Amino acid sequence: MDFDLLHPSEQIAAIMSRIYAGGMTTTSGGNLSIRDENGDTWITPKGVDKGALTPKDIVRVGADGKVEGLHAPSSEHPFHRAIYARRPDLAAIIHGHPPALVAFSVVRQTPATEIIPQAQRVCGPVGYAPYEVPGSEALGQSIARAFEDRFDAVIMENHGTVVAGTSLSAAFQRFETLEFCARTLIRTRQIGAVQALSAAEIARFEHQDNLLS
Ligand SMILES: [Zn+2]
Repeated sequence: MDFDLLHPSEQIAAIMSRIYAGGMTTTSGGNLSIRDENGDTWITPKGVDKGALTPKDIVRVGADGKVEGLHAPSSEHPFHRAIYARRPDLAAIIHGHPPALVAFSVVRQTPATEIIPQAQRVCGPVGYAPYEVPGSEALGQSIARAFEDRFDAVIMENHGTVVAGTSLSAAFQRFETLEFCARTLIRTRQIGAVQALSAAEIARFEHQDNLLS
């Protein structure tokens, strides 16, 4: 069955377990959401072990703010709400603390994605949100401003990353690819200088890719 057709709570539980198993977030960190066609948001709960989430743990927050579910919504729900408010085209958001991207956030840089052929297309340009206290409205505004500038992947200063997509599977691919770029850059710098692909080389790959698909 097409993953995107699964119930939002099943999609969220499945992707969270892949993120956790991949070492891309910690027990308490990270949150995912999907906005459905009714404008309701399905989001991971506050204070539940991210390694053991099941679909019944996922919380629904109605467009009117009404919460339904076994738990309270994630404490970082304010920034999910702020992003969706500014970007009606987006249907899914992933926030996490994957170690290589957190390292980039601590040195206050965004990772280059033109180091392997397809990463730039998958990730798009990478934005940057200045530090604000986790869970605060100010953090929501800081991140939402970056998304408003049409970035779909944003480094959160001294914190982590948040990526979005038109589906949760697309957002996950972006999240995983960006972390892969960050990890690769850190390793590359240990053995030599980073040599990026040129815009022409990436365009040539994209053209070939279009012909193949
Ligand atoms: Zn966080």
